[in-house]
Amino acid sequence: MINEKDPKHQQTKKKLKTIGKICLIAGICCIIYGIITFPEGFMLFFVGMPLTFVGSSMTMFAFQGEVARYSANEVTPVAKDVVNYMVDGTQDSIKTVARSISEGINGSNPKNMIKCRHCNAENDDDAKFCDTCGKPIVNHKVCSQCQAKNELEATYCNKCGTRFYN
Ligand SMILES: [Zn+2]
Ligand SMILES: [Zn+2]
Repeated sequence: MINEKDPKHQQTKKKLKTIGKICLIAGICCIIYGIITFPEGFMLFFVGMPLTFVGSSMTMFAFQGEVARYSANEVTPVAKDVVNYMVDGTQDSIKTVARSISEGINGSNPKNMIKCRHCNAENDDDAKFCDTCGKPIVNHKVCSQCQAKNELEATYCNKCGTRFYN
């Protein structure tokens, strides 16, 4: 890993930038001169091509660090925001999932909530009357044979086994 703050490295970079610029300018000059003096100076064109290439890649390399650092500074807060946003979103969804799991464990449906038989609205299972239609809430049925309390959805009495037809 190269230490960006290393003064030697900074110097190398500076040199590289200068040499790169010189190569680039010389290369471009060679190409232009080669084109102008075509066909006599055509050889210069072939000299200028690699010079330009080397010069531009050297300059690019020297500038790359700065560009990378600049974009890193620019990008980091955004990335942080995105991460925070994602974490927040994840926390929210975890909360939602946790809530639905705990509701599932507590058996909110149908134990904590009861459906009105008249309008199907959800009501607390201790409600006496429907919040929506005001009709009395029946959260259990009584067996006609043994008077045992049964779940509303039960088909058979849990005590005597009598079949319910309602
Ligand atoms: Zn109702
Ligand atoms: Zn019964």
